[in-house]
Amino acid sequence: MAFTPDTSVLDLSGIGEQRAKKLEKLGITRAGDLLAHYPRDYEDRRQVYSIREAPPGQRVCISAMAAEHPRRARIRKGLELVQVKVVDPTGALHLTFFNQGYVEQAIRAGEEYIFFGAVEEQGRRRTMVNPVFERPGKQSLTGCIMPIYPLTAGVTNHLMASLVRQVLPCAAALPETLPQHIRQEHQLAALEFAVKNIHFPQDEQALELARRRLTFEELFYLAVGLSFLKHRREGSQQACTIPPCPKEAFLTRLPFAPTAAQSRVMDEVAADLASGRPMNRLVQGDVGSGKTVIAAYAGWLCAKGGYQGALMAPTEVLAEQHFHSLSDLLGPAGIRVGLLTGSLSPGEKKAVRAQLAKGEIDFVVGTHALISQSVEFHRLALIVADEQHRFGVAQRAALAGKSEHGGMPPPHVLVMSATPIPRTLALIIYGDLDISIINELPPGRTPVETYVVREDKRQRMYQFVRKQVAQGRQVYIICPAVEDTPQDSPGEDSWGTPSPDAGLKAVKTYTQQLQSQVFPDLTLGLLYGKMKPKEKEEAMAAFVRGETQVLVSTTVVEVGVDVPNASLIIIENADRFGLSQLHQLRGRVGRGKHQSYCVLITATRSAESMARLRTLASTTDGFRISEEDLKSRGPGDFFGNRQHGLPQMKLADLTGDMVLLQQAQQAANHLLTQDPSLTDPDNRPVLQRVRTMFADTPDIFN
Ligand code: ADP
Ligand code: MG
Repeated sequence: MAFTPDTSVLDLSGIGEQRAKKLEKLGITRAGDLLAHYPRDYEDRRQVYSIREAPPGQRVCISAMAAEHPRRARIRKGLELVQVKVVDPTGALHLTFFNQGYVEQAIRAGEEYIFFGAVEEQGRRRTMVNPVFERPGKQSLTGCIMPIYPLTAGVTNHLMASLVRQVLPCAAALPETLPQHIRQEHQLAALEFAVKNIHFPQDEQALELARRRLTFEELFYLAVGLSFLKHRREGSQQACTIPPCPKEAFLTRLPFAPTAAQSRVMDEVAADLASGRPMNRLVQGDVGSGKTVIAAYAGWLCAKGGYQGALMAPTEVLAEQHFHSLSDLLGPAGIRVGLLTGSLSPGEKKAVRAQLAKGEIDFVVGTHALISQSVEFHRLALIVADEQHRFGVAQRAALAGKSEHGGMPPPHVLVMSATPIPRTLALIIYGDLDISIINELPPGRTPVETYVVREDKRQRMYQFVRKQVAQGRQVYIICPAVEDTPQDSPGEDSWGTPSPDAGLKAVKTYTQQLQSQVFPDLTLGLLYGKMKPKEKEEAMAAFVRGETQVLVSTTVVEVGVDVPNASLIIIENADRFGLSQLHQLRGRVGRGKHQSYCVLITATRSAESMARLRTLASTTDGFRISEEDLKSRGPGDFFGNRQHGLPQMKLADLTGDMVLLQQAQQAANHLLTQDPSLTDPDNRPVLQRVRTMFADTPDIFN
């Protein structure tokens, strides 16, 4: 039977109802889905070794002859062995198969086979357990570059590979969706070639060509989709027109003059709000560059225009702080600021919700979770998402639909992020947003002095803490863990490797230890994410008020909190953090007029980790740091697990494929300039593919 990409997997040999169900878990129901289920890795099984030369411990192919008839033995109930000796001119190899009784008949004395498995040495004996074996000339699992697939329970890699092999010929019937001229211009392999070689590559070069073509394709459709999203919002949609107000009236309320950059971004925001089209703007500015003022200004304009605004913060601590500073700033102007967080009592929450629904609160501050759930507004016109490198496209799209049920047009959206990312990447991750950059710090800041310090300086560092406190300053101490992880189990896996978390400083015990042994005379505070909301609020508030001299915390203080009197931050196990995160943490100090310090403590023996930390000590340029971070950290790490919320990329690594990313972006822009709504019949397949890719972001095409 000839397969087409539409053939159901039930028609494949080896597949019954049960296995079909399991495949469905991987999103595979048709032959075409199998073709689109790309390997996550490969195993080179091309080289064949002699028994003597096979490197022990590595999985390799060996060509050898069965020297005897296999011996089958039942050890106990449920455990059966088949053993057989095989030989080649260099020696003998003893094979053992567990619970594979059929091997007794399948391997015949005197016949040649290719065996694939790991050779082990037991004394002078060479052994192999459960090898894959095939007859020479009839190989499908050996002698090739073998794909390693993402799997699910009940589906082995061999099953997956054999299924893909069965349907591989129908790759010829896959419709080519990339326009011919784009393929030519960017020298991309044809689809059939790419699909065949991504699964069973002829050689490394073919694999590279296949990978390049398919990765380009993913990035290209991503870029087209985001561009659509942007144009759709810019194009037909109406938004509340928020009339401009003289900026001076707002500025007189500020305790300082805005920087030129702040002033520019304020104008950009005001123009967006007055444009009648929904604002979709990202404000990027390094930590401490003064983004809160922009949010306050937007909220002020919005309230003056008679509308409601909402500010969403990633943590309660930060929401509370914003609430206090915005109340101070906007309250005297008659703007009613509200707070909605998880630590409010049910009654309080209900009251705030009611006030929002009635329009008795003009500007509400809360956590993302609270505001994005079921909150009803009276006249919502503005949503500000603070510190949002963790705020994906889908969430943005969902928000844009937020006020619609109240008969209101979609709200203006302002996203604020302190994670400077390289421009190309920003264009993709925030492809649907306009970007404003605050590229200037408020005047009078002296850069934070940063030191990388080893354990042997710990006592000196404690003295330094004392010195700062004696001068009236406050100190943060950041730990990577909450609870201690014991050196042995359960942190240990079954192989006896110590848990990677063993020996990390944990806030709870470390605070006790510091209080009882190091700083008995100082007031210490403790803060971590899972504390009861009330306790958390109290801990933060006490530090803000200056009652706590040293705050021992996890990274919950990472984003946004502002205590200008804090002049020293100590980061324990600093090598465990990403550079951008360390930079962010460092931004907690140096926010006032005092010379500030950041001490990175590490016990690392890795030269690479040391070099990374030294980069941080040598620069305060957030963009440089994030580029360094991108270079040195593994794929995916940079944004955490898909926090950008973009459609799942199968191949493309958004941080590693920079050049390709740029090319795909250009190709997408070029195509959309020529055919903005992709109505040309040649481009229709592109539209189709983008739709499928953004199926989880339905908003994109309506
Ligand atoms: P970000 O959110 O960008 O990290 P914040 O908005 O929290 O920064 O501002 C950091 C600190 O700088 C705050 O204490 C704020 O009051 C102060 N600040 C902001 N803008 C200015 C300015 N133009 N001049 C002086 N201080 C400023
Ligand atoms: Mg901030």
